[in-house]
Amino acid sequence: MTTDTRAAAVQDAKMIIGGEQVDAADEQTFDVVNPANGEVIARAPLGGPEDVDRAVKAAQAAFEGPWSTWSASKRGRTLQKLSNLVKEHMEELAQLESRNVGKPITGARGEAFAVSLVFEYYAGAANKLFGETIPVSKPGLDFTLREPIGVVGLIVPWNFPMNMASWKLGPALAAGNTTILKPASYTPLTALRLGELALEAGFPPGVVNVITGPGGTAGAALAAHGGVGKIAFTGETTTGQEIMRLASGNVKKVSLELGGKSPNIVFADADLERFAAESPYSVFDNAGQDCTARSRIFVEASAHDQVVELFTEATKKVVVGDPADDKTEMGSLVSERQRERVADYVAIGRGEGAELIYGGEPPSGDPFDAGAYWTPTIFDGARTDMRIVCEEIFGPVVAIIPFSDEADAIRLANDTPYGLSGSIWSRDIGKALRVAKEVKAGVLSINSNTSVHTEAPFGGYKMSGIGRELGMHALELYTEVKNVFVDLT
Ligand code: NAD
Repeated sequence: MTTDTRAAAVQDAKMIIGGEQVDAADEQTFDVVNPANGEVIARAPLGGPEDVDRAVKAAQAAFEGPWSTWSASKRGRTLQKLSNLVKEHMEELAQLESRNVGKPITGARGEAFAVSLVFEYYAGAANKLFGETIPVSKPGLDFTLREPIGVVGLIVPWNFPMNMASWKLGPALAAGNTTILKPASYTPLTALRLGELALEAGFPPGVVNVITGPGGTAGAALAAHGGVGKIAFTGETTTGQEIMRLASGNVKKVSLELGGKSPNIVFADADLERFAAESPYSVFDNAGQDCTARSRIFVEASAHDQVVELFTEATKKVVVGDPADDKTEMGSLVSERQRERVADYVAIGRGEGAELIYGGEPPSGDPFDAGAYWTPTIFDGARTDMRIVCEEIFGPVVAIIPFSDEADAIRLANDTPYGLSGSIWSRDIGKALRVAKEVKAGVLSINSNTSVHTEAPFGGYKMSGIGRELGMHALELYTEVKNVFVDLT
């Protein structure tokens, strides 16, 4: 597919309800914009409560219909077909994602491939989910069944739209649920395409529905709907709190992947060159719009000056540019509004007395003047009581703070309401493991920026969330456990 025909194909996007591609009930639409150049690339249906209700009815009918007779193996085989289709359409999905989010095309290709791997993993997991027999104290047989919940609502953010959708669709479908996916209104295009591919793979109508529209109306209607048994949400912590309130009406199960302010702890005995070469990508990848962004660097005081110099030199090499260019490592932010948010935080950091040592403004010239770009930004001399250190900026901004010893590093790293991710750098593995044990976060890495793996659990402590996605843990989020006792006397 060429870029031009693809653009034509997404001009008038449709929601997917009950296997049909449909407009919103009131036929309203909203514009979908490429934030790297401001161009409108599609019009999507402005779904609302009426559309959510239609989708819930379709998902309920599918759950009670033929889908309920499918064996786990058949669900797995169909997920494998979806994985294969994602691989076949990898370039198309990557182009869509890159143009819709403003993210570099090379990164978007990797993300599309990762989506196929997630579906492949859950294809294999579908028939490996089983119950237990339990030696109870009465004479008899006690066993458990793992059953699907029913209709599940999947609400995802704009930073990794298709990946976050796959993290939820994969285990939800493997476990036998029917789904209603609600992408963020900035970025609905790959979710809609995944919905089409799910139909092509052979999922019955109503098993995968996709609703587009604002969070405050379409998302809220889904979170509150009495016919939905569970909400899986990724997004801001404040939205997660609202979803918990909305979901309380019928006591829905709720899993939440929320914000973060992750620490990057570097000891003086670490391989500082390697730390510096890799760490810019741990905070500036995806223009810093990453819940696991290591946006707080804690450096042992004796290595402070060297680390700041090495990290700044490495940051200068990050290639900021047009997302469509294969060489680009950091594209635009998702929207002008997000750029304004970053600009506000940079002003706040300066006002708080942090020392701006690199960036702090948008790049200028072509292609930057037309899009929502920002230069990677480094503050030194920060403190944990500053807003730029306490609050999730969700942009390419990092704050550097020195620490005196191991205990000080742990205290500073934990001085946050969040607890999602983090890295520890040291050649002393005993020390690194002691620190990993004490940092209150769900996803850590030692001497590596990478802490996300399809096969391993992902999720947050404290205000970073509830539940674990990915790996076999995610299946727990989408199943009920039924205990059955058989009296054998
Ligand atoms: P957001 O909370 O604004 O929106 C997320 C989704 O929720 C969107 O689909 C939105 O339309 C919907 N929504 C908004 N208000 C709603 C409401 N009242 N009821 C129901 N749905 C509603 O988040 P965002 O700005 O799209 O994404 C950025 C945030 O996501 C950051 O805070 C980031 O840390 C977080 N995030 C977390 C993870 C993780 O795994 N922990 C991963 C990616 C992003």
